[in-house]
Amino acid sequence: MKRSATNRRAFTLIELLVVVAIIVALLAILLPSMGRAIATAEMTVCGTRMKQIHIAMLAYVADNQRAHPHPQQWVTLDSYPTSWASQKALEDGQLWRYMQQMQDAYLCPTFKGVAQQFAGLEAKSSICMNVWFGHGNPAAGSWLGKATLTRWTEVRRPGSLMLLSDENPFTVPNYSTHAINNLAMGPGDYHNPASHVDSIGSFHLPQQGDYATGLSNVAFVDGHVEQRTIDDTKEVATPDIYK
Ligand SMILES: [Zn+2]
Repeated sequence: MKRSATNRRAFTLIELLVVVAIIVALLAILLPSMGRAIATAEMTVCGTRMKQIHIAMLAYVADNQRAHPHPQQWVTLDSYPTSWASQKALEDGQLWRYMQQMQDAYLCPTFKGVAQQFAGLEAKSSICMNVWFGHGNPAAGSWLGKATLTRWTEVRRPGSLMLLSDENPFTVPNYSTHAINNLAMGPGDYHNPASHVDSIGSFHLPQQGDYATGLSNVAFVDGHVEQRTIDDTKEVATPDIYK
């Protein structure tokens, strides 16, 4: 009753190759959709981090006679133009004492990978503050010299004006002349179509791997977050009084 091993039916080479081909085909179908699901989840995490920063800024406002943090001091200019790769820039910033227990909130998880790819640097932060909330610099003599919004209560439509956004670690022609440098996001002159300084990010869910075509998270003064395209930069970032 001894069973011969040669009687056992084995897989033929052809059968094995068919199985391997089916597995490869299934992976090819599943991996991109899984990648997209992960990227969508990361974008949501990034938006939630902006909301955490918004809460920390509210705490700062409460402690500072209703003045909000300065867009170039909330995180400092340590190691400019790559302050976003500096831990010291965070620790010297106005918001640090409110953020120590949630340091992750400074950084969009998607930016981390994109910055490694385009700039070869390890990001410590990436979320940017709207430079229109600066305290004004008449000497600047440009659109930036008009930035005099010192109180959020001066904002007519808090649900329409950007407070925080993503910014790219690369420039996009006709949208930005600067890549992320100081964690302040300045859109340029609303009335001059050729005036491009910074733009909101475009690296979330890019089309065909082109990081200039994707989305940015935008947190508004009222704290809600929306996903916008780079085309929306000046519209969401410029206060009504300068439009
Ligand atoms: Zn993001």
